[in-house]
Amino acid sequence: MANTAKSAALFTEAQKYIPGGVNSPARAFQAVGDTPRFIKKAEAQYLYDEDDNKMIDYIGSWGPMILGNNHPAVLKAVEEVIQDGLSFGAATAREVDMAKLVCEILPSVEMVRMVNSGTEATMSALRTARGYTGRNRIIKFEGCYHGHSDGLLVKAGSGLIAEGGTPDSAGVTPGCAQDTLTAQYNNFESVEKLFSAYKGEIAAVILEPVAANMGVVPPEKDFLEKIRKICTEEGTVLIFDEVITGFRLALGGAQELLGIKPDLSTFGKIIGGGMPVGAYGGKKEIMEVVAPLGPVYQAGTLSGNPVAMAAGITQLTYLKEHPDVYTKINALGERLYGGLEEIVKKAGAPCKVNHVGSIGTLYFTDQNVRDFASAKTADLKGYADYFKFMMDKGSYFAPAQFEAMFLSYAHTEADIDRTLAAAAEYFGV
Ligand SMILES: *Cc1c(COP(=O)(O)O)cnc(C)c1O
Repeated sequence: MANTAKSAALFTEAQKYIPGGVNSPARAFQAVGDTPRFIKKAEAQYLYDEDDNKMIDYIGSWGPMILGNNHPAVLKAVEEVIQDGLSFGAATAREVDMAKLVCEILPSVEMVRMVNSGTEATMSALRTARGYTGRNRIIKFEGCYHGHSDGLLVKAGSGLIAEGGTPDSAGVTPGCAQDTLTAQYNNFESVEKLFSAYKGEIAAVILEPVAANMGVVPPEKDFLEKIRKICTEEGTVLIFDEVITGFRLALGGAQELLGIKPDLSTFGKIIGGGMPVGAYGGKKEIMEVVAPLGPVYQAGTLSGNPVAMAAGITQLTYLKEHPDVYTKINALGERLYGGLEEIVKKAGAPCKVNHVGSIGTLYFTDQNVRDFASAKTADLKGYADYFKFMMDKGSYFAPAQFEAMFLSYAHTEADIDRTLAAAAEYFGV
C-alpha cells in the first residue's frame, strides 16, 4: 500500500477549516469511501502527492491540462505576463487576441464574453438567452452538469449524483428551480413533450453535446439534429455547454466533430490552460443583448485577467498549430478505452466502457449507458474498489463513477499499457 501519511494529516487539518476539507466536492473522495491525496506538484502526465507518490494523471485538472501538466509554452507565457502586473480591471490587448482566436476556431461564435468559470459561463448564457427571447423557461437534461448556479442544480450530474439521494441542492428556492424543465438525454420525445406543454415559453435548451458528467455518454444518431431543428422552429436558443468538450473532442469541440451549430456555446476548463477562465459566445444578434451594448447585465472584476488570458491563448494557439495533438490523444483513447473493454469482456465482468476520443468512462454495470437512468444502474461500490486498487498502482482516476477519464498530449502508450496491466490484474485476467 502507498504511504499516504502526509495527505491524511493534511486532510484532518483541512476539515477543521474548510467544509469537508476541500474547495470543490468532487475532490473529496467521498464517493469512493476514501480520503483525498493532497497534490504537491505535477509534471507532464504525472502527479506527485505530498508523500511523493507518483501517479499517472487521468484527470488533468478535470480537463484543462490537455497538453499535459506544466506545458513549457504555457508556463513561459505566464512567467512573462506576470512581470507587467496581475490585474488591471481595464481593457487589454490580450482580451482582443483571445476573443479573435475563439471566433476563428468556432464558426458558430461571432462574439464572445470572457468570465472566470464554467459556472459563470452557463449562468450568463442562460440569462442572455432569456433576455434575447423574452421567455423564462429552459430545458436541461438529467445527468448533464452545467456548474452550480441555482437554476441549474436540478437533476444535475457530476458530484451531485455521486453523493447519492437527491440530486438537487438544498438552498435552491423553488422559485429558482421552477423555470428549469428536465428532459432525458438521448430521448428526443421527452424534449418534444416539453415544447408542446410549454408552447412559446422555452427560452433555451442547454446540454452537453457529448455528456461527460454522468460519465461519458455520447449522443445517439439524430438526437442533436432533432434538437437543433426544434429550437430553430420554436425560436429557442440552443446552448451547447462545451466546458469539457470544447477544444478537446476536436479543436472546434463537439460542434465541429458532430457538425452541428448551436446558437450559443459555453467554454471553460481547456480555454484557461489551467487558470480560472470561462467564456460564452455565439451569434452576434444574441450576444448584442449583453451589457453594455444591451439590457442583459453581466460583469466580472477579474474577467479577461491578463495572466489567465496569456495561459489560455497560449494553450489554444498551441492546439491550433498542432493538429497532431488530436490525432495522438484520440489514438491513446482507442488504446486505453479499447483495452479496458477487452479486459472486462475477457473477465466476463458486468462492465461497460463508453468513450469519445480522449474522454471515457468504465461503468460498473452490464447495461448500455445512454442516459442518466442507465448510468445510475452502476455499482458504486464496484467502482470504488477498482478506483482504490488503481490508485494504489499509480493510476489517478476520478474519485467517482460518474466522471470522465481525461487523456493528454503528454501521455504515452507505455503509460496506457501500465494502467491496462493494473486493470487486468484487478479483473484477474
Ligand atoms: C466543469 C463543468 C462546468 C462548470 O465549470 P466550473 O469551472 O467548475 O464552474 C459546467 N459545465 C460542464 C459541462 C462542466 O463539465
